[in-house]
Amino acid sequence: MLKDTFNRTHDYLRISLTDACNFRCLYCMPNEQMKFMPAKHLMQADEIEILAKTFVELGVKKIRLTGGEPLVRKDAKVIVARLSQFPVELTLTTNAALVDKFIDVFHQAGIKSINVSLDTLQKDKFLKLSKRDLFEKVWNNIQLLIEEGFHVKVNVVVMKGINNDEILDFIEWTKNQPVHVRFIEFMPFDKNQWNSSKVFSYQEILNLAETQFSFIKMKDGTNETAKKFKPFGHQGTFAVISTMSAPFCLNCNRIRLTADGKMKNCLFSKGEADILTALRNQEDIVRIIKTCVGQKEKALGGQFEGDFHKIDTTNINNRSMIRIGG
Ligand code: SAM
Ligand code: SF4
Repeated sequence: MLKDTFNRTHDYLRISLTDACNFRCLYCMPNEQMKFMPAKHLMQADEIEILAKTFVELGVKKIRLTGGEPLVRKDAKVIVARLSQFPVELTLTTNAALVDKFIDVFHQAGIKSINVSLDTLQKDKFLKLSKRDLFEKVWNNIQLLIEEGFHVKVNVVVMKGINNDEILDFIEWTKNQPVHVRFIEFMPFDKNQWNSSKVFSYQEILNLAETQFSFIKMKDGTNETAKKFKPFGHQGTFAVISTMSAPFCLNCNRIRLTADGKMKNCLFSKGEADILTALRNQEDIVRIIKTCVGQKEKALGGQFEGDFHKIDTTNINNRSMIRIGG
């Protein structure tokens, strides 16, 4: 079992398959010409399989594939199929532009739940936020996932002045369809133009939701990051991931592998453990994994605490979100 010094068990691994993406979301990609990692620096399919097996032997019960966009990887189907052999809940986070090509693969791999990112219900705004004119494609693919029986969670990064005016529309969507919308507070990463005035907080989201909907708080799972709500009479739910205003580090069970095989014990950790190089050099990766978990900070990678309005982003030492794997 992977326990840290705060007695937290780590049984949820998020694997980034690539730092490449077919979208260019403002809040995720660094504000510069993005150079993607050369293929030889990425974990290869067989290396991902070996590392996943090692983590499963150490107690991992859930694996999420992410990126960049995991489905742009040419061997994404092979990787999904190989990881499906492990006794884990396998899932992924995707921008959904390519999911229609993967429905059979997902079913065969036993995937039940898929997280899709969609920050606006407006075609023009979608183009501005992602720099791709693919709103209809993404919308149709979400409909396809619902029709195919997947549990669909929709991730919405809420940014003040950009899409907070659509929160009620997103909740309205949950009325007639079984979609589970998760509003994510905007987080600071390398060169993503974050500042605290752009965060639309958990409390602001709830206050706004209450102006139009009547809802109850649902019971959260032990390691749940989202605070969930069920609007009266709706098929779906909405939730808030309040990393900035009310972090949930106390029960964190997550560890991450970047596409170039670096282990991060927290989304905000400064340090990384290079387990891909260790694997290629036939070193003892179990020892490296355990040391990395043991070094986990109490909260937010030790990079900030308290009132998010006081965060000075120049002091944050981290990769961009696209290079970490969200
Ligand atoms: N390409 C896939 C997608 O967009 O779903 C997977 C990778 S993406 C980095 C994973 C998640 O991170 C997405 O839901 C995205 O909205 C979220 N994300 C990216 N940058 C973020 C930020 N600055 N604050 C909060 N969430 C962010
Ligand atoms: Fe790509 Fe996802 Fe980042 Fe958007 S959020 S740029 S789709 S990795």
